[in-house]
Amino acid sequence: MSRVLLATRNAKKLVELRRILEAAGVTGIEVVGLDAVPEFPEAPETGATFEANALAKAADAARATGLPAVADDSGLEVDALNRMPGVLSARWSGGHGDDQANLDLLLGQIHDVPDERRGAAFVSACALVRADGTETVVRGEWPGTIIREERGTNGFGYDPIFVPEGETRTSAELSAEEKDADSHRGRALQKLVPHLREIAGQIG
Ligand code: IMP
Repeated sequence: MSRVLLATRNAKKLVELRRILEAAGVTGIEVVGLDAVPEFPEAPETGATFEANALAKAADAARATGLPAVADDSGLEVDALNRMPGVLSARWSGGHGDDQANLDLLLGQIHDVPDERRGAAFVSACALVRADGTETVVRGEWPGTIIREERGTNGFGYDPIFVPEGETRTSAELSAEEKDADSHRGRALQKLVPHLREIAGQIG
């Protein structure tokens, strides 16, 4: 059994990666989170791109633990804001992680933008750094539109104002299973499956 570290303390992300590997028939990998390894200093996310942040996090984790490590970085790109808030999504209103303030600020900024120009995409970069330092970075995107008023209570962040392409519901009105099956992070993690299969020793 090969251990792979997912550099997160978010239990939902662990479950998601385990479920994706199981669905892909990848056996022989035990996915563990940061709570399962000795603590090491975690650098702040200062990269200019999702890829740079994901890679930095995965590389730190692999170096500190000697385990193959996966890390993700994600955010929302809004067309009318020239793809901002992007890597600043979590701290758009100033403080880190104030979801309601971030969402309110964004809605105000694009208040006068007409419906046909309210396109956006959730983006996730996922990086895998192996014990020998080999790096793989992939990206998943989930296109949609930003509506004018919040709907739904599931999810987090900008979910209540994001309607994915082909949907009428916001991503906060989807069940966790529905969201995972289609989301930016789900799409990115899917792309890592062949690489994780290799680590498990199951080539092909
Ligand atoms: P993190 O990469 O999980 O730290 O997410 C960065 C920020 O992007 C979050 O704080 C949210 O504001 C936003 N974000 C990323 N993924 C999602 C999502 O699936 N739904 C809503 N907001 C998201």
